[in-house]
Amino acid sequence: MAKRFVIGVDIGGTNMRAALVDEEGRVVNRMRAHSTEEPLQGLIKLLASLMEVKVEAIGVGVAGVVDRATGTVSRSPNLPVIEGQPIAEELQRRFGVPAFVENDANMAALGESWIGAGRDSADMVMLTLGTGVGGGVVYRGQLLEIAAELGHITVEADGLSCPCGNTGCLESYVSARALTAYVFDALESGTESLMRDAYEGNYYRLTSEDIYRFALEGDTLARDSLRRAGRYLGIGIASLVNIFSPEVVVIGGGLLGAWEILSKEATKEVERRAFKALVGRVRILPAVLGDDAGVVGAARMALDRI
Ligand SMILES: [Zn+2]
Repeated sequence: MAKRFVIGVDIGGTNMRAALVDEEGRVVNRMRAHSTEEPLQGLIKLLASLMEVKVEAIGVGVAGVVDRATGTVSRSPNLPVIEGQPIAEELQRRFGVPAFVENDANMAALGESWIGAGRDSADMVMLTLGTGVGGGVVYRGQLLEIAAELGHITVEADGLSCPCGNTGCLESYVSARALTAYVFDALESGTESLMRDAYEGNYYRLTSEDIYRFALEGDTLARDSLRRAGRYLGIGIASLVNIFSPEVVVIGGGLLGAWEILSKEATKEVERRAFKALVGRVRILPAVLGDDAGVVGAARMALDRI
């Protein structure tokens, strides 16, 4: 029997990625472009160059709140120009195959569950720690088609304000943005740190990767900021473990460089807080697919829906 192929797409605030994926999750070819003012037109151009074999469907993951029925994005704070655009309809018309739209963090979760860190586990929760925090839940091998805004569970009752309108969201403590904001605050209020002299004193240019580097060099503020993020991450995971009783919690995204510090603190917190019987069966693992998780998950979603 001939091999089946689908296309998986991952549209973020900065980049869009597309990949030709076979039915076993292998990426055969991949393309990448900047997300422009006209993302849909850019995407069509990108996909045309991937149509080297007959594909059966197109799966698209987009950062934002997705309307599955119409294949559109109803709200996308990081890519507002995509809001309301007929993504599924337009792709279907141009390429003559079914197209489906889902949330990007859900797609990353499905990708890791299919061929990544969760491949041997039926029940998985994934958190993606990037500029913000995204999430997805896979239960008995199936992606739960729920909001899964796991970055916005409350971990501090009267905590920091979140753009979502709540205070004390997980995202306000463990995202890359939260990490740098915490360090900038501490430096402004005079905390001693080697990071003060970074970028010739223009320390506002520090990234989360820089903070991790300084932590490895033994800088106390850098280490404390990562430990704090890890602790809040653990508080969030403890609730997710109590709700979903997953076999694995997979952590992905740009903060993964600091995995050792984050996971150590998070694990301590999960062990303290979650039900013992559930902690006993859960493993907390780093994601393995990197930037491919989203396109691979979107491809799987497309295969599942045709
Ligand atoms: Zn929030």
